[in-house]
Amino acid sequence: MHSVILLPAYLAITVAPLVLAWMQDLPRRPVLDDLSSGLAMAAFAILLVEFVLSGRFRTISGRIGMDVTMRFHQLVARTALAFVLLHPFLYRTPFGPPLPWDVTGQSALDLDIRALASGMLAWVVLPGFVAISIWRDQLPYRYETWRLLHLVGAVVIAVAMSHHTLTIGRYSADPMLSGFWLALLSVAIGSLVYARVVAPILKARRPYRVVSVRKIALKTWEVAISPIRGQAHDFTAGQFAWLSLGRSAFSLAENPFSISSAPAGRPRLEFVIKEAGDLTDRIGSVRPGTVAYLDGPHGNLTLDGRTGAGIALIAGGVGIAPLLAIARQLEAEGDRRPLVLLYGNRVEEQIVYRDELDRMGRLPSVRVEHVVSQPAPDWGGSTGWIDRAAIERVFGFEGARDWLYLVCGPAPMLDAVEDALVGLGVPTGQIVSERFRYD
Ligand SMILES: Cc1cc2nc3c(=O)[nH]c(=O)nc-3n(C[C@H](O)[C@H](O)[C@H](O)COP(=O)(O)OP(=O)(O)OC[C@H]3O[C@@H](n4cnc5c(N)ncnc54)[C@H](O)[C@@H]3O)c2cc1C
Repeated sequence: MHSVILLPAYLAITVAPLVLAWMQDLPRRPVLDDLSSGLAMAAFAILLVEFVLSGRFRTISGRIGMDVTMRFHQLVARTALAFVLLHPFLYRTPFGPPLPWDVTGQSALDLDIRALASGMLAWVVLPGFVAISIWRDQLPYRYETWRLLHLVGAVVIAVAMSHHTLTIGRYSADPMLSGFWLALLSVAIGSLVYARVVAPILKARRPYRVVSVRKIALKTWEVAISPIRGQAHDFTAGQFAWLSLGRSAFSLAENPFSISSAPAGRPRLEFVIKEAGDLTDRIGSVRPGTVAYLDGPHGNLTLDGRTGAGIALIAGGVGIAPLLAIARQLEAEGDRRPLVLLYGNRVEEQIVYRDELDRMGRLPSVRVEHVVSQPAPDWGGSTGWIDRAAIERVFGFEGARDWLYLVCGPAPMLDAVEDALVGLGVPTGQIVSERFRYD
């Protein structure tokens, strides 16, 4: 499936309940009543599809990138929240007990507490649910605790909204529309079961063990794993996987890391991990022999299906990890296309695999350029940030417009590099980037 059909498919699913409601041709109500029902139905559809968006399905994230998928998931959740919050305030039809002759609920809105209670539950839980996701980093609990809360909250909201819609919804009494809701609900539940039960079972069948953990730069470690039995996962250079170390395959404690070794290096897989929080601060104490599980590969920061007159790899800090895999794979394949690796760090001590990069930089088709923003007095290379000036200096620029640019690093660097490249005339289709944070 091509990525361009994903958005129309998404819109079709979220608009379908409105079309199915309109097709029923029920007796007219005030416009605001229908707007209220429409917003609630669109929000319900959006929230059910959220289960699919967060299910790590490669059909979706493999095409548009996991970071874009998750950003979309976050933005549409906020839209659904706005719709849900507005929903009860728009009705103009008075509340009251159902009238025997008013089967379509045209003259009175049913106040039955059993059906209203589930709607009120969703209405109260949803804002808190979205708020703890937006301000997750400010709250005093671990990322894994948030994941558990997110999972439980999502199920509570979906169940409450289903009950409310199917028992009280004016349009959802219709068999076509209630059938649509049941089908979408099954897809949502199926996605959840896949992500939390099926995928972990598949993971558990392919255990790895840590073979080495070593410090390779300031606050940066190399973790190598290899399969306990069978083949290592097949992946394309530049992809990442959720890695869990010393936990059950069902644990919520797993973190996304790019695979920094080349596919040619299988069965050994390597990761470059920077100390950045709960797990990564303790990564140096992980012992060889520790059991590891992988959920992956994911991501589309790869050369797959892309071409360019040359290949530019632009990395900031630990963003080097996926780009290293690409550079290593190109070397293993003897690829002769011009390759430039522009690698920025705050200090020289953060540069990983210095010797290997120096050796690569001496290959006829390869250039490796370092930029350091806080150089020591004896640093002989370029200084500053990876910005437009650095890009123009390294790439030229005229002849580099039709190169392929793969970019990975901190968010401000990504924004600056993407803006600079577009400003220099590189078509957006020639720029592929990946963010290491989903917010
Ligand atoms: C696609 C991708 C590839 C990445 N590749 C690398 C890499 O090669 N090397 C590297 O050092 N770092 C990489 N990261 C960042 C790395 O995942 C985080 O630094 C790490 O998860 C922090 O975990 P922690 O437990 O130490 O910190 P915590 O304090 O638990 O979390 C800090 C932040 O890390 C992020 N994070 C933590 N756990 C998860 C999770 N399960 N899923 C999504 N985000 C999470 C959240 O934004 C969280 O706020 C990558 C991130 C992504 C999204």
